[in-house]
Amino acid sequence: MQKNSGPPLQITVPELAGCGRCRQTGVEKPFLYEMVCDDCGGSGRVNKATGERVPDDIMLVAMRKEISRLQGVIADLKRKDPDECPIYGPLKRRGNGAWRGD
Ligand SMILES: [Zn+2]
Repeated sequence: MQKNSGPPLQITVPELAGCGRCRQTGVEKPFLYEMVCDDCGGSGRVNKATGERVPDDIMLVAMRKEISRLQGVIADLKRKDPDECPIYGPLKRRGNGAWRGD
């Protein structure tokens, strides 16, 4: 479907890179006080292709997507068995420790 007017059908989030000026913290401390970084607007991220600040509304969408992705990672980690070794598989419980067979 070709769309000729109005807002875009999907919000495109540019690929982000870390801000070099504030070292991805979003704040800089030129002397004794902290200030919001001018290059990234306090997000710690800039447009990877251009190196410019991403508009606040687009950055909110990008941060929401990143939060959703990280919540999925946390849910995956919570689902995994903590005694499962990535090399040896599930470890057998013996006493207070985990027996690995060696
Ligand atoms: Zn910055």
